[in-house]
Amino acid sequence: MALKYCQGPECHKHKTKDRIKGMKGSKSYQTRRRSSFYYGNDNFCSLNCQNDWFNKYGDQAIDHYGRTTEAKHLTQDNAWVKDWNYPSGDYMGSENRQYIYVNGITKEQRPLTEEQYRDKSYTLNTGE
Ligand SMILES: [Zn+2]
Repeated sequence: MALKYCQGPECHKHKTKDRIKGMKGSKSYQTRRRSSFYYGNDNFCSLNCQNDWFNKYGDQAIDHYGRTTEAKHLTQDNAWVKDWNYPSGDYMGSENRQYIYVNGITKEQRPLTEEQYRDKSYTLNTGE
């Protein structure tokens, strides 16, 4: 797996032993490099680094993608949430899961196939 760098703009300034790299005589604290990261959608080595990024770029990012300027509303048109459960009394393994769509406003339930459950683009929601 390819290695990638933490996107935290101050990563190299958080002084930990694992960040010290380089040959004797020219060692320095360096940006962490890993095959995967736990934070910020696999972009940051720590919450500190994620917060550093937001403190530096967050306002620009919000302005770029559109600042929320009025309240959004949860209605029956956008309250569908995917969920799964086991048929009553059966807790034996994931092959017996039943996948469902649940409307958080009306409480209506509709059956889902496993494929629909895993398909991130499949939705019953018609609003944001
Ligand atoms: Zn970092």
